Amino acid sequence: MRKFLFALSFITLFYAQLSAQNEIVEEEIEGEMVTPVDTLNTSDKYMKVIIFSDYTWKYLDCGHPVIDTTGLYDEWDIESIHAFREHKISELPDEIDLLLADDNNPYCIPYRGRVSSRYQMRRSRPHRGTDLPLNMNDSIRNAFNGVVRYTGPTRETGGYGNLIVIRHPNGLETYYGHLSVVYVSSGETVKAGEVIGLGGSTGRSTGPHLHFETRYMGHPFDPERIFDFESGELRSTTFTLKKHYFNIYSHYGQTDAESKATTGRVYHKVRKGENLGVIARKHGTTVAKICKLNGISSNKILRVGQSLRVR
Ligand SMILES: [Zn+2]
Repeated sequence: MRKFLFALSFITLFYAQLSAQNEIVEEEIEGEMVTPVDTLNTSDKYMKVIIFSDYTWKYLDCGHPVIDTTGLYDEWDIESIHAFREHKISELPDEIDLLLADDNNPYCIPYRGRVSSRYQMRRSRPHRGTDLPLNMNDSIRNAFNGVVRYTGPTRETGGYGNLIVIRHPNGLETYYGHLSVVYVSSGETVKAGEVIGLGGSTGRSTGPHLHFETRYMGHPFDPERIFDFESGELRSTTFTLKKHYFNIYSHYGQTDAESKATTGRVYHKVRKGENLGVIARKHGTTVAKICKLNGISSNKILRVGQSLRVR
């Protein structure tokens, strides 16, 4: 009797769950227990088929991402790493308000962890993204709903290694570099949080890490302005992208005045045989001014490849 009551309550519970999902017909429940035994993939990755023990089946909708495609495919280019190549920073508005997340637009940290290298000049070269050390083959997740614009192997992307670029409806593009495996392809819709590849060390890399970039109209800005990679949180659900953020010397943590001050700066990379006098003449300035800007004395020995501010 006890066994029977237990079975009965289980069936009732099961029936209640099924009815809650949709209109399952009573006959299926009357005889014996009907249980899901398998799930099958369909050509639509967000739609699965559940097979039940009585050989019936039904679709299981895993939820399609809501993506506003207005303007999403502007200057769409699946052949090139960077799209929007004709757009100069000077032509962009001073401020652009971007919606990053709301009920229809979830977000996900691509990889949660410590930042090893920031958006900044690094050994006299611009480092246009955030580096996050990881273990080989850790999951890399898509940051926001979007469509994959470009994927490329190391031989095509040079320093980026295996690379994915995703276009998002707010106009941003996110870049995921040095991957060991790429799971997605151009034109594919991707949800925030979806695993798009595995972390690796392909391309110009000295150890397994994710190189993550955020770009607007092809121009990179510091991804740490959007994400706190250590906590895994978005800093804010809306974001005002300012023109001066595109400068490689502008980064998260500066005041607006400090960031703005980076835009008028001009830097010079020292070449073999150059001294302060030669550099000053090249840039129409004086040795004294260069020394003041860089906090150095006029008899300072220059190193080839060193970056000097000249304006
Ligand atoms: Zn990097």
